[in-house]
Amino acid sequence: MGKRAGVVWDDTLLGYDMGADHPLNPVRLDLTMGLARALGVLEGVEPLRPAPATEQEVLRVHSPEYIAAVKAAPESPLEVGHGLGTPDNPVFAGMHEASSLVLGSSLTAAELLLAGETDRVVNIGGGLHHAMRDHAAGFCVYNDCVAAIDRLLDRGVERVAYIDTDVHHGDGVQVAFYDDPRVLTISLHQHPATLWPGTGYARELGTGDAYGTSVNVPLPPGTTDEHWLRAFHAVVPSLLRAFRPQVLVTQCGVDTHRDDPLAHLGLTVDGHRAIYMALRELSIEHGGRWLALGGGGYQLRRVVPRSWTHLLATALDRDIPVKTELPGDWGQRLGVPDMTDGGGTSFLPWSGGGGDPVDMAVLGTRRAVFPLHGLDPDDPRD
Ligand SMILES: [Zn+2]
Repeated sequence: MGKRAGVVWDDTLLGYDMGADHPLNPVRLDLTMGLARALGVLEGVEPLRPAPATEQEVLRVHSPEYIAAVKAAPESPLEVGHGLGTPDNPVFAGMHEASSLVLGSSLTAAELLLAGETDRVVNIGGGLHHAMRDHAAGFCVYNDCVAAIDRLLDRGVERVAYIDTDVHHGDGVQVAFYDDPRVLTISLHQHPATLWPGTGYARELGTGDAYGTSVNVPLPPGTTDEHWLRAFHAVVPSLLRAFRPQVLVTQCGVDTHRDDPLAHLGLTVDGHRAIYMALRELSIEHGGRWLALGGGGYQLRRVVPRSWTHLLATALDRDIPVKTELPGDWGQRLGVPDMTDGGGTSFLPWSGGGGDPVDMAVLGTRRAVFPLHGLDPDDPRD
């Protein structure tokens, strides 16, 4: 028997709130926890309350000047700099405290994993992958993904694989570990020529000893479940086998959905569920330890609650059949009747070559990075 997964959650995480008009509305987290409970996914699971990060812990990831600016911003919201006070990153009351709690929640998750009583931990309140050392970006103030990976490394983990399935490039995490060979970052995202933040090309490979440990798969707008999954399986499993990570950290943003208002990929909640199952499978192959974080996702009712309920269920080995009807009044609340969008998740494995735009992207990434890991980019068996 495996050890039951841990879940980090407390309603205080809803305090990371950039305002009613901002896309990152915490209602998506509240609805996810509510739906997961209503479906029985969390039965017998006592969520672990996150501890806010101390200033020392935030300093491990961010510059003192930036932290000072975040703290001071609510009092002097004009000309505060550091990416703050913009439409994407508005200043809000208690910003430092709320952001420290999010960062702390992923540290709590990392600690739970390190304690060894569980192999899997889910923190849907985390995943703020765009925050940089000295500035806010893309709705992200403090970077909890980087903090969690740093904590794992500080505690003796030698190799961490970070897999980012958000529709946006995982730039803040890539930058933080661009010269660190202990961390393999892999991001699959909408092509940077067509979406903010405009980075995440296959040629971004890392520097020095870490050359080859930054991996990017830029996907064309409109990419569907089948094609996304084909690209994932053509790139990720081989690289993990070569890298041999001891822990998987995944950013599980769901703004890849076809109905997401901020981006243009074509996935469904069925595709998201298939992604989580693939990540679980890979974590099992690599010793079992899996830290799953949230991320983007701006279709607040129809998409995020169902997709992340599938994430929680997958981590807990309580897989929800897609045809499951939503219980009680949840169908009315979310505007969908069941746990599926009817998406197709069976895919043809990549068979070499670059026939269509997604296969071209696969080939581009494989040719850039596979030789650096002793793999043959043109051989689909690698
Ligand atoms: Zn995103």
